[in-house]
Amino acid sequence: MTATRSGLGFDLHPLVEGRPLVLGGITVPGERGLGGHSDADVLTHAVCEALLGALALGDLGRLFPDSDPRWTGVSSLVLLEGVMAAIAKKGARLVNVDVTVICQAPPLASHLPAMADRLAVTMGVAGAQVSVKAKSPEHLGLLGRGEGIAAMAVVSVEVP
Ligand code: MG
Repeated sequence: MTATRSGLGFDLHPLVEGRPLVLGGITVPGERGLGGHSDADVLTHAVCEALLGALALGDLGRLFPDSDPRWTGVSSLVLLEGVMAAIAKKGARLVNVDVTVICQAPPLASHLPAMADRLAVTMGVAGAQVSVKAKSPEHLGLLGRGEGIAAMAVVSVEVP
């Protein structure tokens, strides 16, 4: 007998000069990147937060505190692997992930399949279980002014 649980993740990082833009483990060409302690991959962080939320395991900051120098500049895919290990330890199985990144620029449409593939491989699931979408903030608010990029994710997991 299994139960299905869902989890919600949200994250937001500022766009800054002199950093690469990494989203879903893919480096997207652009003038600015996201600021943060790790590679600041906001999309992957939202997925991690959703996975942790589904099993009530806290949040990414609790698992990987930014006071720990081991996580400075680390690929967020490494963090995602750590989260998946925590999920597996609970005997849980990922059913699907759906994530939306909210970004004024650069255009992301052509990169979305590669991001979904990278996340699926990292999580050890089929590509069809991972959906990555992008939404324009239509020039509204802090996201529309290009001050940052946000992402929200929802996951479904089966637990024994
Ligand atoms: Mg983050």
